[in-house]
Amino acid sequence: MTYSIFHIAQLLGGKSLLRTEGNISRLLTDSRSLIFPDDTLFFALRSASNDGHRYVRDLYNHGVRHFVVSDFQSDFDSMQDASFLIVNDTLQALQQLAAFHRNHFSLPVIGITGSNGKTIVKEWLSQLLHNDYNTVRSPRSYNSQIGVPLSVWQINEQNNLGIFEAGISKKGEIERLEHIIRPTVGVMTNIGQAHQENFSSLIEKCREKLLLFTDAQWLISCKDHAVVEKCILESGLRCRRFIWGYDQLCDLQVLGIDKIGKVSTITCKFGNETIIYSIPFTDDASVENSLHCLSTWILLETVIENKPLNMQLIASRMKLLEPVAMRLEVKEGRNDCLVINDSYNADINSLNIALDFARRQAADKQMNMTLVLSDILQSGEVAEKLYANIANLVQESGINRLIGIGTEISKQLDKFNIPQKESFNSTESFLGSGRWKALKNEVVLLKGSRNFHFEQISEQLENITHQTTLEVNLSALVHNFNYFRSKLRHETKIVCMVKAFAYGSGSVEVAKTLQHHRCDYLAVAVADEGAELRREGITLPIMVMNPEPNSFNLLFEYQLEPEIYSFSLLNAFIKAAVRHGESHYPIHVKIDSGMHRLGFEKPDMDELVGILKDQETVQVQSIFSHLAGADSPAFDDFTHQQLDLFKHCADTLQNGIGYSFLRHILNSSGIERFPEYQFDMVRLGIGLYSISAVNSPEMETVCTLKTTVLQVRKVKAGETVGYSRRGVLEHDSEIAVLPLGYADGFDRRFGNGVGKVLINGKLAPVVGNICMDVAMIDVTGMDVHEGDTAEIFGKGRNISELADSIGTISYELLTNVSRRVKRVYFQE
Ligand SMILES: *Cc1c(COP(=O)(O)O)cnc(C)c1O
Repeated sequence: MTYSIFHIAQLLGGKSLLRTEGNISRLLTDSRSLIFPDDTLFFALRSASNDGHRYVRDLYNHGVRHFVVSDFQSDFDSMQDASFLIVNDTLQALQQLAAFHRNHFSLPVIGITGSNGKTIVKEWLSQLLHNDYNTVRSPRSYNSQIGVPLSVWQINEQNNLGIFEAGISKKGEIERLEHIIRPTVGVMTNIGQAHQENFSSLIEKCREKLLLFTDAQWLISCKDHAVVEKCILESGLRCRRFIWGYDQLCDLQVLGIDKIGKVSTITCKFGNETIIYSIPFTDDASVENSLHCLSTWILLETVIENKPLNMQLIASRMKLLEPVAMRLEVKEGRNDCLVINDSYNADINSLNIALDFARRQAADKQMNMTLVLSDILQSGEVAEKLYANIANLVQESGINRLIGIGTEISKQLDKFNIPQKESFNSTESFLGSGRWKALKNEVVLLKGSRNFHFEQISEQLENITHQTTLEVNLSALVHNFNYFRSKLRHETKIVCMVKAFAYGSGSVEVAKTLQHHRCDYLAVAVADEGAELRREGITLPIMVMNPEPNSFNLLFEYQLEPEIYSFSLLNAFIKAAVRHGESHYPIHVKIDSGMHRLGFEKPDMDELVGILKDQETVQVQSIFSHLAGADSPAFDDFTHQQLDLFKHCADTLQNGIGYSFLRHILNSSGIERFPEYQFDMVRLGIGLYSISAVNSPEMETVCTLKTTVLQVRKVKAGETVGYSRRGVLEHDSEIAVLPLGYADGFDRRFGNGVGKVLINGKLAPVVGNICMDVAMIDVTGMDVHEGDTAEIFGKGRNISELADSIGTISYELLTNVSRRVKRVYFQE
């Protein structure tokens, strides 16, 4: 559906400068996602960490002519052929437009909220119902103040069911989402601690969420969630209810749940009918999610549409429920390919998101892009039209090579105007052809409906050699970055410390992510690390903390800025810079204010001024010092002494050399505990990895070290496990073997019961000594099998506690994860 820009201008009110006609069918809030400039309307959103107005010029240069702004900046004047709608609040305008769009349609809409399971319930409902309805749903977990309007905007005339999720983090947000979604049927999944920061109690948050259902006709919930039940009863909501739970008063009564092997079988009763179904999951959350889905299904079919219940259909579809891929994973593959596997569903909206993600990866690395795409199974659209739309999207995304898999896409291949294209009737014939070997040094996006089993392709393309991985959640990293940024004044700059392979997480990916999110400076330990970042396209200024004299040429070659901590280093560097013909080369002067590691001391200041004052070879870019105990209140007096001394040295230097430069002293814990000393810049390190000196609950886990069980064996009481016969068994035991040893960074001190790993939701202790490449754990009675995943540290297993158990700190555990452990990056 399209709207003329005039129509939108009228709708939003406010002032407008309408200088071009135009029809709008796409809304854009992230400038990096631009594909079709002609019919795009850009909303310049402002947040604590970014401002969309900054990207208007760039978008204009890329052909966008329609903008919604709140601040008409003088630069916009020169864009004579662009239209600007000027409103007070651009986010509100976006929401207003989406709400208007929603009002055109009378389709039933399922609105889902709650603390956990929203996305899975939504995706499973779509898996269960897509044969019967032409559904439109939120892509991935687009459930925020921005995600919801963008989701609802996708509704078109063909849809006859909408499924949208709503998430909130503070009061007042849900009403805005309610106006946009206007659900007919509400699903309240459950209520838990997630996003609790801005609510005084669970009850308060629950009440707030229920406002999503103010005008709904039906509300589905589980009676056994006491808080939810209490809040609904007190809420005064007018909607009718559909309740499930163990109580016999429930509309859908659960009679029993049996978990055997990898399958749960659920028996329940609806009216006089008994329903028995199985799902291929055994965790409690999946069982709960399936019951929310079943309730919704029953309500839609039997109560709203008045049809008989089809028990066989329920059982046959429930059995096939698939795990929901919550994220796009990037893995290194053979022949230097980057493989992005998004093979859990294929519809045009999620294709759009996956292409956008692939495009950014390819642009960063200047690689070509190949799309492996299956038939798109989407009811309700004529194939000709559907593939014409897909072809358009794929072309505009700059795909260099298309591999179509399936009979339908094979027929439609001529619609794609792409340099290289070929097609195969099935996944097997593609794999059998060996053509996948032709993929070299490119980004490969795998996007297929689940019955095409693209995981077979990804296994072929990925280098599966070592089953231990360090997962790095880049979205969480950005979240933590923004948390620290929110503690600072707007103009304070941030140096992100990406030394030591970015605390083990991989400097290149982390640096790229930070560069995207407007970090101001990077710091590495040695020149080689900085050179690598430059070769990978990092353009931010980079400081080198340990510039050895034999690496000076590398500094000049790659524009790396040295830390200068002594007279001998300073003199040597100036000499080298003169030889290299440099002038005003930026340096960073390190002060020793009490750490007694490196740096000039207070009495050195006069001599330092003497050297720096009358020369133009180097220029002081910043002066800094490092706190020895910023994380601990016990050292606060000492910390204040350090701060005073630093300030004195900085003033002396500035007065002496007569120009100003940046000052910085705070590390991560300093930012949290002494924000009043942020000066011009701060240096953020461990905090990016969710370690907080004040135990802030706002941090998100970034790194997860995981491995896979190689083998499980039964060993009798009295036998021993491992080297030196240290692991003596007191009972008959089941021992699982993990491909993870001290050479991977699993410290030998975790041996003999000290370390515990998380497996099947329980903690299993290490048995015996840890070997170089392997460790054994006791999994007696835990139903562990070959191929199961074990978490060493991460979301389920706090790294600080783990570090404590062997008397070290998280820094060491992170940086010890050896380079042979594969890093897997993802965004949520
Ligand atoms: C590593 C380092 C930091 C970062 O410290 P965190 O405690 O990880 O935040 C800051 N400054 C200097 C000089 C460092 O070497």
